[in-house]
Amino acid sequence: MNEQTFTTIGRRVLISGASVAGPALALCLSRYGYEVTVVEKAPALRGGGFAVDFRGHVHRTVLERMGIWDEVNRHQTHMGEQTFVDETGAEQMRLDPSFMSGDVEIFRGDLSRILYERTRDRVEYVFDDSIASLTETPDKVHVTFERSAPRTFDLVVGADGLHSNVRRLAFGDESQFLHHLGYYVAGFDAPNHLGLDRTARWFNAPGRGVCLNNYGRDPRTAGVLMVFESEQPLVYDRHDIAQQKQLLAERYAGLGWEVPQVLKALDRTDDLYLDAVAQIRMDRFSKGRVVLLGDAGYGATMGGMGTGLAVVCAYVLAGELATHPDHKAAFAAYEARIREFAQGCQKTAGGAGPMLAPSTAARIRRRNRAYKVLNSPLLAGYLDRLTVKSATNIELKDYPRPVQGAPEYTR
Ligand SMILES: Cc1cc2nc3c(=O)[nH]c(=O)nc-3n(C[C@H](O)[C@H](O)[C@H](O)COP(=O)(O)OP(=O)(O)OC[C@H]3O[C@@H](n4cnc5c(N)ncnc54)[C@H](O)[C@@H]3O)c2cc1C
Repeated sequence: MNEQTFTTIGRRVLISGASVAGPALALCLSRYGYEVTVVEKAPALRGGGFAVDFRGHVHRTVLERMGIWDEVNRHQTHMGEQTFVDETGAEQMRLDPSFMSGDVEIFRGDLSRILYERTRDRVEYVFDDSIASLTETPDKVHVTFERSAPRTFDLVVGADGLHSNVRRLAFGDESQFLHHLGYYVAGFDAPNHLGLDRTARWFNAPGRGVCLNNYGRDPRTAGVLMVFESEQPLVYDRHDIAQQKQLLAERYAGLGWEVPQVLKALDRTDDLYLDAVAQIRMDRFSKGRVVLLGDAGYGATMGGMGTGLAVVCAYVLAGELATHPDHKAAFAAYEARIREFAQGCQKTAGGAGPMLAPSTAARIRRRNRAYKVLNSPLLAGYLDRLTVKSATNIELKDYPRPVQGAPEYTR
């Protein structure tokens, strides 16, 4: 197929969210001649965050076709082994880098910046704004914003994460779609007093896990990750950091290992992330001229290779839009191609909480024994294959080349 067949040129798409899914789709759509606007609630591109990874040939092929594989590789973290210790710091078991960090691991902020820099000349980015309302007519969507003047688009994409604004506006309240998996995850920075260098230490008490890690960027700082069990959803104010700190301090009070130091760092931090480990489950990913992409449509919080999933699905959505003149057919094809793939990744993610924060001492010991065996040379690669299986469970279509003048998909 060549560029003459495209009906996409000049069609206007609004994407909500400039993290990974949004800019990845912007990159693909702009190559097919779409006029793309990305609106992001944050005042600037959000840096920082945790490390995300890619694994298996599907992720790699899409990154190559997008033309960013080499750059992603240049920014990889080179994280080493992760060791699980007891309260005296004695090693209980260790995990191979490939299991926790995939083939290539990169900070979410670095990936977002790569995608943004590749698109900012061709895509309009509007920061510090958010969609206020969506009104669909037979051939357009009228959009009002919190700050900017109203505008009209052909299509609107929700790539605005687990707590998606577009999903709420088009499909309804998130309580219908967000399924609590019985765990919470928190993250912040602490002093690197263990002197970690491209390595991580995990400690468990029943129902609680805490990890100190250093990705080799700043030797003085360690990342803290806390994962804890809570069968029932917790009630707290998402904007009240002091309340969230107290909640965490209570959960981890009285524990050994480095936990007292971690709690001191928690007390001092002003940049705390806390959220439920949850999954978005939806019967459909589109409604009229609105479609969901990435965490907004099928997010899994952690362990589900959400970044690889978002990037692959952005490639598929753009390809289907480019090959179907009608958005309804394109959305149907997108959904048919990715649904099973996304569900498989969510299923893998469901194991992350119980693995990182087993609920009893016996379960912690059992997990350690099991992973010791799975990590042995005899079974080398087994754990890796488990995650790669869901990361590659999609047949990638060879979508048409971009329009003349646009940067090529790399083949
Ligand atoms: C603790 C944790 C650990 C994770 N670990 C991994 C991992 O190891 N490997 C992995 O692959 N994935 C991991 N993920 C998931 C991964 O980060 C996401 O799945 C992936 O980045 C895809 O994100 P997204 O672009 O769909 O959404 P997000 O990255 O959540 O981005 C949404 C964007 O929308 C913006 N936004 C929100 N509301 C609005 C609004 N009203 N208007 C405009 N913009 C808005 C946000 O500011 C943000 O920029 C993890 C996630 C968490 C929370």
